[in-house]
Amino acid sequence: MTEKITAWSFSRYNLYQQCPGKAKLMYIDKLKEPTSDAMLNGTKKHKELEDWLKGYAPLPSWMHPSLMEFCTRLLALKPAAELEVAFNKNWQPVDWFAKDAWARIKIDALSRTGTHVEILDWKGLALDTLLPTPGGFKTMADIEIGDSVFDMYGKPCLVTHKSQVKQLPMYELQFKDGAKVTCDEEHLWQMYEGEVLDTLSLKTGMAIPLQKPIELPEADLPIHPYVLGYWLGNGRKRDGSLCSPNTEILDYISALGYEMGKNIGGKREKDIEVRTVHGLRGDLSSLGLLDNKHIPEIYLQGSVAQRLSLLQGLMDSDGHANNYREEAVFSNTNRRLLAEFRVLLSSLGIRFRSNTGMAKGFGLTIKATQIAFKMPAGMRAFAAGPKAARELTWTKFSQDFRTLKAITPLGIGQSQCIGVDSPTKTYLCTNRFLVTHNTGKVREGTYDEQLELYALTAMLMFPSAETFNTTLVFVDHGKTIQGDQFVKADKDMLLKRWMDRVDIMLNDTEFRYTPNQYCRNCWFRRANGTNTCDAA
Ligand code: SF4
Repeated sequence: MTEKITAWSFSRYNLYQQCPGKAKLMYIDKLKEPTSDAMLNGTKKHKELEDWLKGYAPLPSWMHPSLMEFCTRLLALKPAAELEVAFNKNWQPVDWFAKDAWARIKIDALSRTGTHVEILDWKGLALDTLLPTPGGFKTMADIEIGDSVFDMYGKPCLVTHKSQVKQLPMYELQFKDGAKVTCDEEHLWQMYEGEVLDTLSLKTGMAIPLQKPIELPEADLPIHPYVLGYWLGNGRKRDGSLCSPNTEILDYISALGYEMGKNIGGKREKDIEVRTVHGLRGDLSSLGLLDNKHIPEIYLQGSVAQRLSLLQGLMDSDGHANNYREEAVFSNTNRRLLAEFRVLLSSLGIRFRSNTGMAKGFGLTIKATQIAFKMPAGMRAFAAGPKAARELTWTKFSQDFRTLKAITPLGIGQSQCIGVDSPTKTYLCTNRFLVTHNTGKVREGTYDEQLELYALTAMLMFPSAETFNTTLVFVDHGKTIQGDQFVKADKDMLLKRWMDRVDIMLNDTEFRYTPNQYCRNCWFRRANGTNTCDAA
């Protein structure tokens, strides 16, 4: 007799989408995958949250601090926790263990107030990989379909897919320039030579391409970026005056349209000129920079020319031209400024090395960080003065790749990936703007499907309710994401959608093995000790 799956849940549906063959092994042949640490951890967390909602235990200490207020409000709603709802084939509620239970749906928390129903699902994500976007960094957890990111050529592209969250072996990749990224074993990498490899195929010594400068429109900036850069390096922190050991730089700033007062350098400055730039103090104040030197976000979001000008201002002040190595070196002690400087370099497609040691300056020996880099051909680190003159004689430029130095296994973790519409199928990640490849096969809208099912469940449970909100709570990440809001009239549409979705699964008799991105982590393949499961 041909066997079929006769009852379903969201996790069954989800697994069937990955591989119908695996769904058969588990739900018809009743083979069990061994439980993993990650599964046990997820179950434990859900149980602790259930106990808290039922008043048996305090809020778990691992709950992200930024969710405390949310949790207080949630508790006041007295929601039902770990609700188990079963339906028969006619979508009528039945007992969870009833013989005719056809769909079994578990909801993490649900509360009803009058005609409104709130539905909530706990997610245990720690998806904090940074992605540069035209509006600044977003985390992988924050990024949404339709957001813009950048491809390897620095061109903005759209996020078209977001994979479901995966529990997979994780690795830390470290590159020779110090850049690091954590990724799962399935993640794809665009290699320098052109091929695309997954993490497990990577070897030390291999290279990925270096990103090109990210392309952003010209920003409306209150202070010329060069002047700001110079002030950040060699300006008095409480006013708009600049210190310079040579007049060429002052001439360069004058040529940008700034008027300066006469030299007010006192004995302390010895032979260094100090000049007040007229109007600068007010702009510095409005940008919140007085006594608080840093690179404002809008300057990191300027055009390539603006960011390069900012870099040149910083380098003409706190930079050094190392003639022997033919590289530029930026020295500073301000940790925030150093972090922003690294982002500035990365946004310009510049690879760098960083190290901290003792440095001499203005008669003092202090602990400072040096960031050394070669410029890409066609770009200059310095704009005016003797350092710029030295740079003009250099013939060595930055190489356009990053070499892999170490691959370190990190154990099982959670990961997620995005798909983009760039023809290169690449996007940039981390605050070093590392080039990485699109996700492979992804299914769109897993969360949407899950939340739709929960909303439908609530509609069937509470026929008189009018509005239904769904929320995902990322307990490790301290973030909530509002899902779609539904109204009573959506019921028929959702019923049809879910009937269509499960119809294919419930009528399947072939259960084809479908090799996919989860195969590598699939116990059935591993159990056979082969590269694929029996039938794949
Ligand atoms: S190894 Fe891949 S094809 Fe085989 S059962 Fe597992 S998921 Fe399906």
